[in-house]
Amino acid sequence: MILLDRVTKKYNRSGPALERISLHVEPKEFVIIVGPSGAGKSTLLKLLTREEKPTSGKIIVGGIDYETLKDKEIPLLRRKIGVVFQDFKLLPNKTVWENVAFALEIVGMGNKEIDHTVPRVLDIVGLKGKEKRMPRELSGGERQRVAIARAIVRQPRILIADEPTGNLDPKHAWDVIRVLEKINRFGTTVLLTTHNQEIVNKLKRRVITIQDGTVVSDRANAEYHA
Ligand code: ADP
Repeated sequence: MILLDRVTKKYNRSGPALERISLHVEPKEFVIIVGPSGAGKSTLLKLLTREEKPTSGKIIVGGIDYETLKDKEIPLLRRKIGVVFQDFKLLPNKTVWENVAFALEIVGMGNKEIDHTVPRVLDIVGLKGKEKRMPRELSGGERQRVAIARAIVRQPRILIADEPTGNLDPKHAWDVIRVLEKINRFGTTVLLTTHNQEIVNKLKRRVITIQDGTVVSDRANAEYHA
């Protein structure tokens, strides 16, 4: 599903943000990426979404080799990868429903199919009944679940969650993590970055630790102590 072979990323003449990273993530895996600030986690995720290009090395995601990827194929790639961020990035002047529906409108889906799809996804993230709320009328945890609904509504094969619980209290953080687990059970590969040790230790998933741009450990059912 995701293959990185000796990937290096240098932004400028200073040291590389990532150095010869090799990784293999199977379909339907749930992988947690940890490491101190500045370790290279965001860079890794940006390489996967093609926001950044590697300086050297090979990246293949869902059978797409990034070396031969043309700019006009990037939107297609991005449909395979849903992304959620720490700060939600919702559209403040649209309702919950509209925020999710918008992701379908921009890829040209018709109203009938949108009306069929949006409720199903809001149900998955536990937001049934909140369709007409504005983002400002929601808790942080609910906002993040809207962001997740929007990220999965086009049924991506991979969901990247970059510090999705960073702004949330523990209860809301767990609501969000439970939703990620549910989406993973439905068959989506999940990549999660977090600084929350309790979450890492309770999830007991594969944990990849990055430090100074290299993978220093990669363990199944792992715990994490910073
Ligand atoms: P993390 O997500 O683990 O905090 P990052 O991937 O953001 O780490 O950063 C890794 C390194 O790359 C850091 O030294 C950071 O300063 C550098 N870096 C990140 N983005 C850029 C950029 N756009 N230009 C230059 N350097 C960058």
